[in-house]
Amino acid sequence: MEIIRAASRPSKKAPESNFTGDVWQDEVIVGKAPSRMRATNVSFTPGARTAWHSHPVGQVLFVVSGIGRLQIEGEPVHELRPGDTARIPPDTRHWHGAAPDRFFVHLAMSETSESGGGTEWFEKVSDEDYSRPPAPVEG
Ligand code: MN
Repeated sequence: MEIIRAASRPSKKAPESNFTGDVWQDEVIVGKAPSRMRATNVSFTPGARTAWHSHPVGQVLFVVSGIGRLQIEGEPVHELRPGDTARIPPDTRHWHGAAPDRFFVHLAMSETSESGGGTEWFEKVSDEDYSRPPAPVEG
């Protein structure tokens, strides 16, 4: 077994090339083969978000704190709240991030493809797309 200590892994600033605003990443696990699991705790400051991107095996987001946004391309923007789990299908363009006036923290879980492929990144999310009001929350 292995215990990876928090002190050995300082928070990393997410790269400006793929994110808008201040985003910090805390690695949870990068699986060793045969595992293809990856998990990262991601902290977004208000208004911060990913660029458009897709994941070869999809992605699961679990909301830890704050209020966030998630949009699958061509669908309405959805609001995310603590305790929510979002399942994002494989090879599907989407973005996620904080609400304009709230911090947002989610645990992002995904698997690399069988060939080892990871996230594919596209253009940044425009202010116009980001600012669309989210759909009403059901339940
Ligand atoms: Mn994603």
